[in-house]
Amino acid sequence: MSVRIFDTPDVQDFLKTIAGLEMDGGNPRTKQIIHRIVSDLFKIIEDLDITPDEYWSAVAYLNFLGARGEAGLLSPGLGVDRFLDMRMDAQDADDGVENGTPRTIEGPLYVAGAPVFQGHAKLDDDSDKNGHPLVMQGTVYGADGQPLPGAQVEVWHANTKGFYSHFDPTGEQAPFNMRRTIIADDKGHYSFESIVPKGYGCPPDGATQALLNQLGRHGNRPAHIHFFVTADDHRKLTTQINIDGDPLVYDDFAYATRDGLVPPLVERTDADSIAAWGLKGPFAEIVFDIHLSELVNGIDNQIVDRPRATA
Ligand code: FE
Repeated sequence: MSVRIFDTPDVQDFLKTIAGLEMDGGNPRTKQIIHRIVSDLFKIIEDLDITPDEYWSAVAYLNFLGARGEAGLLSPGLGVDRFLDMRMDAQDADDGVENGTPRTIEGPLYVAGAPVFQGHAKLDDDSDKNGHPLVMQGTVYGADGQPLPGAQVEVWHANTKGFYSHFDPTGEQAPFNMRRTIIADDKGHYSFESIVPKGYGCPPDGATQALLNQLGRHGNRPAHIHFFVTADDHRKLTTQINIDGDPLVYDDFAYATRDGLVPPLVERTDADSIAAWGLKGPFAEIVFDIHLSELVNGIDNQIVDRPRATA
């Protein structure tokens, strides 16, 4: 169709009616957002001459997406999570805030309430027999460059099948396996023992992968470890590190990889190192210091209130 009606008074009035702009009740912010979204949708339909077949396949797709519970997976796949981070980076630059350790996306698989340990924790319960032992450690520093004793390091990662506890379709993992909260010691130091995680992909039969297929894109992530790091008088840091050497480190479907978040992974095979951590054999070691940023006008403007799983 070549007709154009979007800019006519009839359509523009219709959009105001749809968004309830002439009604007293409701939420003004919701009205503002819905008015813009539906306006942009109408304009897209007109500009791209979206056919009814295409439109109704999109409606069916949204139902598929919701039925599979994958909206939180499609979001990073379409780069929206990354875009929100890019905006926060730009705002920080504008505010003159320096981030020592870069932020990156949270992803949808955090679970609140993990067991808390002082200084050091073992993350896994030895149930993943394919796991290669990992030791990760570092110091949490404040905006003034001094160590931050008592900083809280929340860490979570997948097993060697690429599944997270609480979201594992095999049902093999106990609650909070590979999820811990570590309180940095009096030198600001944290450490943990676990296994090296593996990367994972979108469910191959799911809604996210179906769309990625249409885009000619894969739906895989490199192996990575998630963190929330908090401390008094500092902003919360949401970040991840990638496992160095994973072939997808710079080809992540969720766009979470950033410079400064791929620390070297060093294989330790000598007896002294193995004994120092009380391990039985060779292990991989990652050293990763974390630098938090200062509050902005006394406020932590990094707190994101989003629905999260609780156990
Ligand atoms: Fe993840």
